[in-house]
Amino acid sequence: MAKKNNENNNNKKQNAQQPNNRSQSKDKSKSKGFQYNKKGGKQGFRSRNGSAKKYRKSVDETPVKIAFLGGLNEVGKNMTLYEYKDEMFLVDCGLAFPDPEMLGVDLVIPDFSYVEKNADKIKGIIITHGHEDHIGGLAYLLKTVNIPVYGTKLTIGLIQGKLKEHGLLSSAKLNEVAPGDVVEFDEFSVEMIHVNHSIPDAIALAIKCGAGTVIQTGDFKVDSTPIDGGMIDLSRFAQLGNEGVLALLSDSTNAERPGYTESERKVGESFDVLFRKAGKSRIIVATFASNIHRVQQIINVAASLGRKVAIMGRSLENVVDISSRLGYLSIPDNVLINADLINKYPADSLVIITTGSQGEPMSALSRMAFSDHRKVEICPNDYVIISATPIPGNEKTVGKVVNELLKLGAQVIYEKMYDVHVSGHACQEELKLIMGLVKPKYFIPVHGEQKHLRKHAMLAEGMGIPVDNIFIADNGYVAELTNSSLKSGAPVPAGKVFVDGYGVGDVGSVVLRDRKHLGQDGIIVVTASIDYETGQLIAGPEVVSRGFVYVKEAEELIEKARKVAEKSLENSYYSNISDINAIKGKLRDAVSHFVYEQTKRSPMVLPIIMEV
Ligand SMILES: [Zn+2]
Ligand SMILES: [Zn+2]
Repeated sequence: MAKKNNENNNNKKQNAQQPNNRSQSKDKSKSKGFQYNKKGGKQGFRSRNGSAKKYRKSVDETPVKIAFLGGLNEVGKNMTLYEYKDEMFLVDCGLAFPDPEMLGVDLVIPDFSYVEKNADKIKGIIITHGHEDHIGGLAYLLKTVNIPVYGTKLTIGLIQGKLKEHGLLSSAKLNEVAPGDVVEFDEFSVEMIHVNHSIPDAIALAIKCGAGTVIQTGDFKVDSTPIDGGMIDLSRFAQLGNEGVLALLSDSTNAERPGYTESERKVGESFDVLFRKAGKSRIIVATFASNIHRVQQIINVAASLGRKVAIMGRSLENVVDISSRLGYLSIPDNVLINADLINKYPADSLVIITTGSQGEPMSALSRMAFSDHRKVEICPNDYVIISATPIPGNEKTVGKVVNELLKLGAQVIYEKMYDVHVSGHACQEELKLIMGLVKPKYFIPVHGEQKHLRKHAMLAEGMGIPVDNIFIADNGYVAELTNSSLKSGAPVPAGKVFVDGYGVGDVGSVVLRDRKHLGQDGIIVVTASIDYETGQLIAGPEVVSRGFVYVKEAEELIEKARKVAEKSLENSYYSNISDINAIKGKLRDAVSHFVYEQTKRSPMVLPIIMEV
């Protein structure tokens, strides 16, 4: 790991100084991310002004194909595949969290079958930023195809943490890039452009090939007073716009919201007001682990008021560790304290930063709310700030946590009570600004549900982009673009793959249907032994149930069901039915029918018949 780290740390400097020269001065193991291409050149990257390769490629009529493997009609599992001539590369590989009806499913990742099929054409994957909906599927992807990964410093740092959990750290080909760098493949060159978002080090991509330039914004907002890292590089978007942009793929998350997204700095001001208001209370702030600028602001305000800060929750501890190591978080001396020692400090000199702003049941804040946390016991002297808005679908769980905290007597600041949260995504005016600067010929709204994509398309239309030049895609769609045409290509597989424990893809729709069925009405198991040759009933049948009725209170019903099963098996015998599946089918039908008549319920009926 140390070796890889060094390599990554070295990359940036080397690139700026010696464009395309890097592998010559390095040993083989260090340069494995940069394979020789067919033409004998090297894949690598250089600074924007580097002269190693002709930057602008001549435009021809071969289409650039953009396949959407995830991220459309959903907020999650973003993944896009670019193809030109015989070359492909990917952008992002995220995960989605399961819907409540996906029983027992831990997470959802994109379907990689199209990627696997084209593995030898894919030159690498570029990651726009370190959010789960952009990096969460990467470990699963690399187990399938171990392609080079490109990302900015913090993004790579967060990816390393994930790959370590999957035991992939030593085999992964990680390459650190910075805004202004250009990754050169054979047909494509991809330039990184700095943008603002709710995690540092996010980038947009300017993708150039023979068909023209495509800009993919990634997740972004326009923050003119960001906490760190500078304002989004609007001038670069404008420059590219003047050079001519074939297509813009833009973040639709907030396309329904008019105006501008507030600056992250606004939240810091609110913290300052609220922390003072908290008086002698202990302050607990829940936020997204990855929102490092938010964490920085909490720490700054706490320090300015002489309060110590403790971090609670595994993901938050991880991110704080990685980001302070990489220089994205600066914590003044003697402010951070060990979470085990909070009881040694008076309440009014403490701020606890915790996970759980979405009400996630296993998170630290949830545990505190339900009096199940080992270190923090909520009391009336607690002042809790939930610094996030519930993601659609999470309103209920967040509401529950708020109610429990209130029951314990704590004061709770949540949702829109104060400006304790700003979005990381651009609102309408910012979206229009980017469109106006980039002036794309074609527009493709991405990263959003149908209502977001539609609204974003309407904004584009309002900006004068002809309807025929706007493409509202879905997962599996392929956009084929040339300088004179936009066509929808043959669709590619892009479904959902469920991850349950160590199982990837082994839980499908049938298993889910069974789980739902079991969850709704339970199961009745009928066991019996029949004679192998004659089919005559030898032992049983016996009937047991789970999740259907409590057997002791329904002995009569179960006994009647047993009789029905027995009769069915006897009927099969007298009718000379010898096929075991037919016998089972008849048994299942008979018992299901009887149970439904008696109870109006449809538990799963599972016949187990042994031929002896
Ligand atoms: Zn994001
Ligand atoms: Zn996202």
